[in-house]
Amino acid sequence: MAERYYCPEGVSGATAVLAADEAAHLARVSRLGVGAVVEVFDGKGLARRAEVLEVARNRVVLRLDGDPLPERAAVLDLTLAAAVPKGERFDWLVEKATELGVVRLVPLLCERSVVDPRDAKLERLRRLVVEASKQSRRDRLMSIEKPVRWADFLGSKAVLEAHAKLAAHPGGATCSDWAGIAAGARVVAAVGPEGGFTTSEIDAARASGWTIVGLGATILRIETAGLALAVAVAARVEPTTSPAHGAI
Ligand code: SAH
Repeated sequence: MAERYYCPEGVSGATAVLAADEAAHLARVSRLGVGAVVEVFDGKGLARRAEVLEVARNRVVLRLDGDPLPERAAVLDLTLAAAVPKGERFDWLVEKATELGVVRLVPLLCERSVVDPRDAKLERLRRLVVEASKQSRRDRLMSIEKPVRWADFLGSKAVLEAHAKLAAHPGGATCSDWAGIAAGARVVAAVGPEGGFTTSEIDAARASGWTIVGLGATILRIETAGLALAVAVAARVEPTTSPAHGAI
């Protein structure tokens, strides 16, 4: 399979230019040269095949070839809101959430939060999103939003417009009891800090129509809970009846 390179300036014309990081990756890490065939994507859903035309020190010029490649689109518009775990565990969550197709990640500030999401170096995390997108052949980048307090998140546009709102809390409803989720639905899913959501945080969510969901008998770390929740939500998506998708 052809290697992928990120080209935020766009890949809709006849040529594209890779900037410093990506150019270095192509030339020095992957050791590709003139004539090599790769794929480029703009992070907004467009990916195309390309041939290397010119390799310079901090810049690679590519000739774009043919039609857009078919997009690997997410089945859901899933927002994952999570308290920030310590150290590298948040990097791990960012990488895995990207692989799993989470559309946006919202760092949460809760009553019992111990990590201030502002310290999480969001710019560096966005670079991890690019790397995970290349590796998983995802065409649209996962966005990482500004950190937000739980109370403000409950009243935010993403939440008010959601079709389903699920907050993970030990003892909540088991996955098989959740309502089915229509393909393409807007879903927000939330995970609390290591100390857990407080009773008043859970009560506030319940009062604004959230379902409180459980993820099994054991207590998971934030990043494990985030992934388990993203997978469980995807598993609740109702199968489409579209003839484009044959029966398994
Ligand atoms: N100390 C808390 C657990 C915190 S774990 C307690 O004992 O209750 C961090 C977060 O992960 C929780 O706020 C919750 O959102 C999620 N989580 C962890 N394990 C879970 C489980 N079994 N069911 C549902 N959510 C869970």
